Order: sequence, then structure tokens, then C-alpha cells
Amino acid sequence: MTDLSIAAAPEAAAYTVVMKFGGTSVADAERVRRAAERIVAAKEAGSRVVAVLSARGKTTDDLVAMAYEVSARPDPREMDMLLSTGERISCALTAMVINDLGHEAISLTGSQAGIVTDTSHTKARILDVRAGRIDAALSDGKIVLVAGFQGVSTAADVTTLGRGGLDTTAVALAAALGGDCEIYTDVAGVFSADPRIVPDARKLTQASFEEMLEMSASGARVLQLRSVEYARNHGVRIHCRSSFEDRPGTWVLTEEETMERPLVTAVTHSTDEARVTLTGLPDEPGVAGRVMTALAEANVNVDMIIQNEPESMGREADMSFTVPRDDLTPAREALAPLRAELGIADVATDARMGKVSLVGAGMRSYPGVAAKTFSVLGDAGINIEMISTSPIKISVVVREDDVPKAVLELHTAFGLGADAVRPEDPRGVHRPTVPSR
Ligand code: ASP
Ligand code: MG
Repeated sequence: MTDLSIAAAPEAAAYTVVMKFGGTSVADAERVRRAAERIVAAKEAGSRVVAVLSARGKTTDDLVAMAYEVSARPDPREMDMLLSTGERISCALTAMVINDLGHEAISLTGSQAGIVTDTSHTKARILDVRAGRIDAALSDGKIVLVAGFQGVSTAADVTTLGRGGLDTTAVALAAALGGDCEIYTDVAGVFSADPRIVPDARKLTQASFEEMLEMSASGARVLQLRSVEYARNHGVRIHCRSSFEDRPGTWVLTEEETMERPLVTAVTHSTDEARVTLTGLPDEPGVAGRVMTALAEANVNVDMIIQNEPESMGREADMSFTVPRDDLTPAREALAPLRAELGIADVATDARMGKVSLVGAGMRSYPGVAAKTFSVLGDAGINIEMISTSPIKISVVVREDDVPKAVLELHTAFGLGADAVRPEDPRGVHRPTVPSR
């Protein structure tokens, strides 16, 4: 035992980093070369380096389109077989470049990398990471490239993790290998709002896991929601940064590690929501359970739910909820048999909804954020269709067309811009200058 610990000491001190490159960062030969150089630089700086690479450019979108060219409802298992090819291409190409640069690289499929998932095709969850093969390759001095966004199911089929699932692969590998996770992307970090809508949006230097969870759940596209959940559960620090420049980006950390705690940190949005409204539901115990169970069995993700109770007993109730627009067809299909069974009067759908959310760990203990949010939207003539809140988030569903204006107005009203005067903004609700806990 004693000689082993002496031999293992320098090895154990090595820093492990899992570098994730998004689709735009490997879009063409030149960018693959740049990503490879960045990976090699990390290796030469002494780190044990694993890189997970996305499919190039719009490859995943193209593969999805290809599937819909031949089938209205592509079989999910075959969809996974198809989609998993994109990431393999990027890994093989990057490995070739790294080998030409004089380093040893090995590319692995999700299955070879030991990523074991459940069997829900096209949105599988990682159950286990058996990182032995990666670990051995790293110990041999190799750079390991992993085709992310994919794994092998407990039924030995190829699975994919859902759009944006590469982030989850990267975080899961970092957790398994005990390293940090660096997410290289085409934006400089996480912003206070989408800079395409808000020109003076500010790059955040840090965000807590909780804030990032709310932001990812409500439309921020920088990190996939599951990756943040995974990072929080396993304590993996994430650094989101640009693959085109060397400046630091945004760190996602535990709340204890973050220093800033503004009332509102960011305004996020999504424009791919759909609403389903059920009218004339029988007002009896168990009905909401039946509706949601049917949707859950069809793997439909329900987000906001509102139910209106009739004023007098024994009458009919109405229920509205939102789903991702892509889930609207499966939702309709799942509800169809329930209509006759429960005697639902009508199922109406609206595919053109959007959602705008304010997120901030600081709002946990300060009232007034909701009041101000609704007033700002009202003054802008924007109708609020649905509302939901958490201790650190306020979300409103509005018409899809109203989303950009809502984001812009709220970002300004809460003084989130790069040049906004932040402390003691007289227009704002009370904002403590010393962050409180
Ligand atoms: N290529 C996949 C996608 O576009 C996975 C990823 O990039 O995260 O969703
Ligand atoms: Mg992506």
C-alpha cells in the first residue's frame, strides 16, 4: 500500500477538465482545427483532457429534417441511430487533427465511453457512467474525445439525450472523473438577456446552480437543463465561455461560492410554447391526475398548469397547461381517448405562445418583484395569459409576438443592462446594496 501511494501521488494531483464544444465551434475544417488546438493547449498545460464535441453546425437539425422527409412520425429508436452519427463525425475528425499535431487522441462513441442510459429514446437519461476506459486512456497520456449526446441503453440500444444533451454528457463525465467542466460555445457566457433582443445585455461573471436551473428551464439556451441539475447534484463547477476568444465567461457554482446576489439576475424567454385548454372537465377527485398521467405516459413535458374551479359545487372545471410546441401532437393524441371517457367538453390548443421569465436568487426574500413585472408589462400593452412563480423566478406566458418587447421592457425596468446604475435604482423596488441571505 505504501509504495502505491508514493507512485500515485503526482498522478492524483493532475487536474482533469472536460471541454465541451458546441456545433458552431466545430462547424468547418478551420474551426475543428481551432478546437483541436485549444484541446492540445489544455493538455500541454498539464491537464488530463477529455473533450466532448457536438455534431457540426446544423448537422443535428439536418438529420432531424431528413427523418421527417421520409416519415411523419419517425420511430424513436431509429431516430437515435440516425442522430448519434453527427457527434461521431466531429470526434473522428478532431482526433485526426490532434494526432497530426503530435498528440495521441482516441475517439469513443457514447457506448464505448461507458455512458449508460435508460430506454426512453430521443430523451434518455444517464443512469451510470462507467469511465474506466476513459480513465485508462487518460493515464496513458491520451486525449479522449467522446461523442456526447448519446449513450447505450440498459437494453443495449443506442440512445440520445434530447436536444442540447451534449452538455449533460460533459457534466456527467466531469462528475465521474472528478474534474471541472468547460462549455465552449459561440457566445461569451451567460447573459442577463438574449443579446439579439437586448443589445445592452450584460455578461454574468457567475450564477448559482439554482439560478441557472431556472434560467435553463425558462429558455436560456446556453446550458441544457439536465446538465445543470446533474452539475448541482454532483457539485460539478461549470465554466461557460467563448470558443473564439480567451476571456473568462460565466461560472456556474453553488450559491455559497457566488458573490453577487442581485434581486433580478436575468430575463429569459422562449418562443416555442403551446397551450392546451380543456373545458368542461368533471369537477371530481382524480380527474387532474388522469389527465396528467395520460400526458406523462406519452412522455409529454407539461410546464405551467392552471385549473379553475367552478363557483358552485358539482359543476365543470377548466384546465390550461403549456407544453413545448413539439409535444403538442403527442399531447393531443394522449388526450383523445380521455375526452369520451371523462366527458371533457372541449380540447382547444394554441401553438403560438411564448414565455418570459425573471430569475434572481435575491428575489427570494424581497416582495414587489411580481407587482413591478406585471405593471411593466401592462404599461407596455402586453397581455399576460398565464403566470407561475418559484421562490427565485416569475414567469408569464404571453403571445409569441409579444416576447421580444416584454424582454426588452423588463430588462430596462429592472436595470439589468451593462451601463445601468445598479445600486439603489430609484425606479426599482428596494434593492439591498449588501446581499442578504
Ligand atoms: N447535437 C445535439 C443537438 O444539437 C447535441 C448538442 O449539441 O447538445 O442537440
Ligand atoms: Mg447544442
